[in-house]
Amino acid sequence: MAASTVRINLDGKPINPLTILMIGAGGFIGSHLCEKILQETPHKILALDVYSDKIKHLLEPDSLEWAGRIQFHRINIKHDSRLEGLIKMSDLTINLAAICTPADYNTRPLDTIYSNFIDALPVVKYCSENGKRLIHFSTCEVYGKTIGSFLPKDSPLRQDPAYYVLKEDASPCIFGSIEKQRWSYACAKQLIERLIYAEGAENGLEFTIVRPFNWIGPRMDFIPGIDGPSEGVPRVLACFSNALLRREQLKLVDGGESQRTFVYIKDAIEAVLLMIENPDRANGHIFNVGNPNNEVTVRQLAEMMTAVYANVSGEPALEEPTVDVSSKEFYGEGYDDSDKRIPDMTIINKQLGWNPKTSLWDLLDSTLTYQHKTYAEAVKKVISKPTTS
Ligand code: NAD
Ligand code: UDP
Repeated sequence: MAASTVRINLDGKPINPLTILMIGAGGFIGSHLCEKILQETPHKILALDVYSDKIKHLLEPDSLEWAGRIQFHRINIKHDSRLEGLIKMSDLTINLAAICTPADYNTRPLDTIYSNFIDALPVVKYCSENGKRLIHFSTCEVYGKTIGSFLPKDSPLRQDPAYYVLKEDASPCIFGSIEKQRWSYACAKQLIERLIYAEGAENGLEFTIVRPFNWIGPRMDFIPGIDGPSEGVPRVLACFSNALLRREQLKLVDGGESQRTFVYIKDAIEAVLLMIENPDRANGHIFNVGNPNNEVTVRQLAEMMTAVYANVSGEPALEEPTVDVSSKEFYGEGYDDSDKRIPDMTIINKQLGWNPKTSLWDLLDSTLTYQHKTYAEAVKKVISKPTTS
């Protein structure tokens, strides 16, 4: 971006260049946010993470036009005294760091709770004490299950949006019992939201909370055995991509009846940039960021991904592309699920005028094109290797 271009925000005010501390910059969302900020704004990024693979293309070579505007700090926020100094050096802190794959919630509940609550505490505290603005990434999972899911299966009220649309300032947070450890993540995220909100109310912390609703796109998670552990279980996009790349059946947990709305990462990142550059409109708010028009059951997602991947790869789909598995078999004891997730868009529309644009078919088309180009050869090589006994 040309340094001389004056950019203005939604209220017509010039946007001054910011220094942004991005914690978790090396992850899926962080990598897209770094890309957007470097390509379209004059802001500087202090990129903090324990990994940098997903932003390597932004850090090297030194000749890149934004080379002076991004600095990588390999830091684990669990135990590093440099954290407060970096927050002090920045105008804004964005915290993305988290354990956020459902396969971990019931199998590593302690790590999940520490990561999503305890490790986020110093970030909130240092921002509050030093008068720094914070954008914190929470999750749509804080809503838990819909009210409608407790109605009888044949109740006409299940069709009434009042029983399922999720509203930031009105919907309750409905989790399962404690032995359903799936909810360790949602509960930790809820508590950190409450703490941030209280810091705002009692100590004047300038904050924005983001609740992503299934953002998907290139660089999400990993393909097991290629750029992540062979036995690892990533989120659904990568699980299904992995099966398609290997020509295996896509596993539908408990029949694939749960419903999700998926939003393209590039649409969602536009919303985050609006929050960054319009603090007067974003501070003190919690925002749903999702695409209510892209709702499918997990089974429908599997069918659509199968059709899109056949187009992209030129290889016909399997005759029986899916197989049902129980959640106990797939995730182990303590798994539970959100039944349906439709974001209410009133607040983000009113404050930031943001709307998602990309249809589910289109976003799967670009994402699976990326998956095919990035992984197909590597997967073929792994599959063709004789297994050692
Ligand atoms: P991700 O796992 O790709 O990224 C998280 C990054 O944080 C990783 O690069 C990880 O190395 C880093 N990190 C974790 N703990 C750290 C620590 N102690 N110190 C330093 N770095 C650490 O996940 P993502 O999809 O990019 O999600 C980012 C945030 O958005 C998370 O808070 C997540 O809960 C939230 N979220 C995302 C989605 C989605 O649709 N992708 C949905 C709901 C919530
Ligand atoms: N799921 C599935 N097969 C898989 C992976 C996930 O049926 O191989 C289901 C999972 O049970 C959930 C949905 O897909 O109902 C979305 O899972 P994801 O891991 O993306 O996270 P969530 O949306 O639950 O946070």
